[in-house]
Amino acid sequence: MWHDCIVPGCIRQGSCKIKLQVMQPGARASFAIVTPNTGAWLCGIHAVQGMEVDLVIKPTRTEEVATFVSAEDAGEMVQAVSGVTPIPAKAADEVIRYAKDIGQRGRSRDPSG
Ligand SMILES: [Zn+2]
Repeated sequence: MWHDCIVPGCIRQGSCKIKLQVMQPGARASFAIVTPNTGAWLCGIHAVQGMEVDLVIKPTRTEEVATFVSAEDAGEMVQAVSGVTPIPAKAADEVIRYAKDIGQRGRSRDPSG
């Protein structure tokens, strides 16, 4: 399936998917809490030549991750794509379990406790 490279003016095929992963420390990539679909692709040339990425997190209570990826050329936004990925219910359980583990370890290191 053909995907356009998101870089403005690029006519090459987007062969490299732009991914975002939300992970706990030490977790392997296959155990990401959520891997949102950005819907954005880069061609091989733009994937390796370097880029700047601005990431802005806006918390919601939707139990989804909505992504908006845009590309700029000389300061003008000329292309954008978006995606929505549900957060798996089991991921929430794992995060709560992890937070409890961290809290217990934190208390055990507290010299006053
Ligand atoms: Zn490109």
